[in-house]
Amino acid sequence: MTLAALPPWLIEQWRQLRSDRQHHAILLQGVEGLGKRLLADHLSAGKLCAAPSPDGFACGQCKSCHLIQAGSHPDLVIIEPDGKLIKVDQIRKLIGFVTSTSSYGRGKSVLIQPAEAMNIASANALLKTLEEPNGDCSLLLVAQQPMRLPATVRSRCLQLHIHAPSIEQGCQWLTQAHQVDPQQAATVLASCHQAPFVALDRINNGFLQQRNNLFELWNQLLFQKLNPITLAEQVKSESPDHLLLLISQWLQDLIRLSQTNNASTVRLQQPDLLKSYQQLPMVSSKALHMLLEQTLQLSAALASGQNPNLQIALESLFTSQTKQFQTRPFSV
Ligand SMILES: [Zn+2]
Repeated sequence: MTLAALPPWLIEQWRQLRSDRQHHAILLQGVEGLGKRLLADHLSAGKLCAAPSPDGFACGQCKSCHLIQAGSHPDLVIIEPDGKLIKVDQIRKLIGFVTSTSSYGRGKSVLIQPAEAMNIASANALLKTLEEPNGDCSLLLVAQQPMRLPATVRSRCLQLHIHAPSIEQGCQWLTQAHQVDPQQAATVLASCHQAPFVALDRINNGFLQQRNNLFELWNQLLFQKLNPITLAEQVKSESPDHLLLLISQWLQDLIRLSQTNNASTVRLQQPDLLKSYQQLPMVSSKALHMLLEQTLQLSAALASGQNPNLQIALESLFTSQTKQFQTRPFSV
């Protein structure tokens, strides 16, 4: 394999990691969908491969590579949550592995993902390994929310931040490597903070079609052709996270449009909806902020594990929305 195995926005990080090899522990951090795990997988495969390329990529052909593909390489350990947490017993077992001799003479590799799933006891157990490096074992920690890790863990790792590519770069990757239609790629990327793997996942799961259906229903609500109770009933099979995310993005787009006289200069999260936004009923910027706040509060309540009666919560949300939008054209 060559550098072409990596999406373009990870190549710089790859080079950096290759040039800095004195760190035995690396913390890869960044939001979901940027390819952190892919980078970590390539790093450990390259380390354990018997015939890596000059760029450090695994050959994909040797015994070591075959064992990794089969998920049974004795020198590679991948630690993932057991339930919601990475438990202290999982880390204790790891310590025995780290201090043992490698089976294939190319060192050992440990991948912990998501590292923030370690509780305090697990993180403390790992500290000892981080403090007393064992020359031939590299530790790769992958985290979306690194601040949930104790500072003592973070400070003992080389911390590498993975950033989202530009819309243009993300689009190029989606169209060239995955044959996605460019317009669709741009729309979906804008809806997910430019995280290309999230975009790809959404495209593969019919995101646009589903979004269009929901937007059509929401339109009917705002034009008072559909009442809040019926709408709440109709969307009950949708993922509430996804539904609330979409509504909050529509409201954010409307807020941005309400603050400008020139819609073409506004960077929207769902730019292909501009025309539809402009035909929505009139609403004040203040009301939009209030509706957004209400939507985000419900999202937060769901995310924190509170269990509001979803049907009632959505009815109440939709009732506020239908009250605030007036049946006059929304002028932008
Ligand atoms: Zn190989």
